[in-house]
Amino acid sequence: MRKIENLTEVLRKGHEGRYAVGSFSPRYTKLILPIVEAAIETKSPVIIQISEKEIYRHKVDINDFAEKFFGVIDELKPTIPIVLHLDHTKDFAIIKQAIAAKFTSVMIDASEYEFDKNVELTKQIVAYSHPYGVTVEAELGKIGTTDFVETEHDEELFTVPKEAKSFVELTKVDALAVSVGTAHGVYTVRKPRVDYDRLLSINQLTKTPLVLHGGSGVPSDMVIKAVQMPSGGVSKVNIATDVEQAMLKVIGRETHITEEELNRYPQEILKKARTAVKELVKDKINHYLLSAGKAE
Ligand SMILES: [Zn+2]
Repeated sequence: MRKIENLTEVLRKGHEGRYAVGSFSPRYTKLILPIVEAAIETKSPVIIQISEKEIYRHKVDINDFAEKFFGVIDELKPTIPIVLHLDHTKDFAIIKQAIAAKFTSVMIDASEYEFDKNVELTKQIVAYSHPYGVTVEAELGKIGTTDFVETEHDEELFTVPKEAKSFVELTKVDALAVSVGTAHGVYTVRKPRVDYDRLLSINQLTKTPLVLHGGSGVPSDMVIKAVQMPSGGVSKVNIATDVEQAMLKVIGRETHITEEELNRYPQEILKKARTAVKELVKDKINHYLLSAGKAE
């Protein structure tokens, strides 16, 4: 069994090897297991994440989430690289809680503020997290949303390449979420798109690994193109909605439930839900992220 890692090596290897590492949101602690199993079976590195909004929406306790995560690690004893990451968070107190609970990576989302304030807040989190060996992801530009699950704004503001360069230099973040056309949630009216020229410009100006949010529902050829750009493309792809949809389909629900509600389902149904999630994650690893077999 190997130690849980932060983002540094996991994303560096992805960037060099032209594959992306999936950052999957189980949203419910019962779904941590099938994601880790899928990564083990495909010999892929994997990131398990939960966001501030998910914690409130599904009534998940962050300490319990970490405890269940480490329980899965003890049970499966994986030898693949695994990162425990806190996705979109604004509240410094939650970031502190996550680090105390042994998360190895955190995201500070101060993208709603203007550049200078975003830099200032991000620097504070970097200064707090790095001494613990915890990596930090930040967001520049505004990633749109279709369902307000991850963020509260639906405004979309593409990342400006020159600003990305100064942002990473000023903040020393370990990964940068960029806004290049994808959106959080389910794509219904609006269609997913990726501004490859913008991605290329950002990549040419910075070596910091880039993150594509809103990866659910984006066609595999679009993700692959964004991952395999000559300049390196994106090295981390966040997938949350697809995981939940796979589970909801099995239990016959239309919309999200709470952690407690899912835990009350009979074992037999939970088992089926876990199988569906595992298959979904394997499909993403094999056909979207191209990270299968990369866990060496
Ligand atoms: Zn996001």
